[in-house]
Amino acid sequence: MAANKRLLVLPGDGIGPEVMREARRVVDWLDKRRAVSFAIEEGLCGGASLDKHGTPLTDETLERAKAADAVLFGSVGGPKWDSLPFDKKPERGLLRLRKEMDLFANLRPAVCFDALADASSLKPELVRGLDVMIVRELTSGIYFGQPRGIETLPNGQRRGYNTQSYTTEEIRRVVRVACELARKRNKRVTSVEKANVMESGVLWREEAQKLRDAEFPEIELSHMYADNCAMQLVRNPKQFDVIVADNLFGDILSDAAAMLTGSLGMLPSASLGAIDASGRRPALYEPVHGSAPDIAGQNLANPIAMLLSLAMTLRYSFDLLEDARLIETAVKRVLDGGARTGDIMQPGKAKVSTSVMGEMIVRELDNLAA
Ligand code: NAD
Repeated sequence: MAANKRLLVLPGDGIGPEVMREARRVVDWLDKRRAVSFAIEEGLCGGASLDKHGTPLTDETLERAKAADAVLFGSVGGPKWDSLPFDKKPERGLLRLRKEMDLFANLRPAVCFDALADASSLKPELVRGLDVMIVRELTSGIYFGQPRGIETLPNGQRRGYNTQSYTTEEIRRVVRVACELARKRNKRVTSVEKANVMESGVLWREEAQKLRDAEFPEIELSHMYADNCAMQLVRNPKQFDVIVADNLFGDILSDAAAMLTGSLGMLPSASLGAIDASGRRPALYEPVHGSAPDIAGQNLANPIAMLLSLAMTLRYSFDLLEDARLIETAVKRVLDGGARTGDIMQPGKAKVSTSVMGEMIVRELDNLAA
C-alpha cells in the first residue's frame, strides 16, 4: 500500500533516540498490521544537529518539519552543550520549531493509569480514573509580550518587567481547540484566567464566552480564576474535562496536573498550529520529559511517554482513533501485568529495560489485534 502519512522523526539527544527506537517499533507494527502506512523521514535536532551542522536546527530540517503531516520529537539537550550561549543551545532547536510552525496550542493530557494510582502524590481514590486535558496557549502572553526588560531607575533601584498581552484572535483560536477537543470528550471546558485583577483576563473571559456561544453551543463552558483552579486540581482533579489557559497559567497548571499521575516518563504532549487552506494542521508530538542525561545510553528510560505521544499523533493528526486506543490499551495491560521501568518501579513489580518495555507493548498489540 502507498505510504499515506508523512512523519518526520527527530530523536534528538540523551534518552531521545532510545525512546524513539521503541516508538519506531510500534510504527513498524502499525505499518504491518493496520490499515495505515507511514512515509518516515528522520532528521537531527538539538545537540546532535549542533555537532554535525553547527546549529541546533537547520533550515532544511525546519522545511521538512513544515512539509510533514506530523513531527515526532524525542528530547534535546545535555551537559555537553550546557556552556554554550543561550541562542546556540540545543533547546533553541525545539523553540524555533514551535515558533516557525506557529504551534500555538499545547495539549497536555493528565491521565492516571489504574496500576500507577498509588504512585501519585494524592490519595489513590482522588486520581484513579483521572483523565483531564490541559490546553495551554504557547506562542503569546507574558513570555513574549513587549515591552520587557530590566532597567535601572533614577534612584538606583532596578526594575524588571514583562507584558501580558492577548489579542481577540489569539484567545479565540486556542479556546476553539479546547472546545473541539471537548466535543469528542465530555463536552466541558473550564477557561482559566485572573479576570478579577487583570484586564487581559477580562478580555480572555469575554472572548472565550463569545466563541463558545457562537460556535460551540453544545459545550458547557465555565470560568475559573487560576488560583482557584490550582487548588481544585489538587483537591478534586476529576471534576475537570478540558482546561484552557494562557501561556503562564497553563505552564504552571499543566506541570501540577502532570505530577498527579506519577512519573515524567509517562507524560505525552502535542503542540498544534492553525489549519491551513488545504485542511492540514502543523503538529509536533513529544514526551514532556527532557533528555535525562543521568540515565542516557543505559537502556533505563521509560518509553511510555514517547509511545503515548505517538498515540496522540494518530488521534489528533491522523484521526486514527482505534489505532491510538490500541496503543493506550497495550500500555495499560503491560502496566497491569506488573512490568515497570525504574522511574515507576514499585515493590513486588518486575523491573524491565527500555527495550523490553517496548517489546512487551508490541507483544500486547499483537494480542489485541489477534
Ligand atoms: P529531564 O526530564 O531530562 O529529567 C528529570 C529527571 O527525570 C531525571 O532524573 C531523569 O532521569 C528522569 N526522567 C526523565 N524522563 C525519564 C524517562 N523517560 N524515564 C525515566 N526517567 C526519566 O529534565 P532535566 O534533568 O531538567 O533536563 C535534562 C536536559 O534535558 C537539559 O539539557 C534540559 O534542558 C533538557 N530538556 C529538554 C526538554 C525537551 O527536549 N523538550 C524538556 C526538558 C528538559
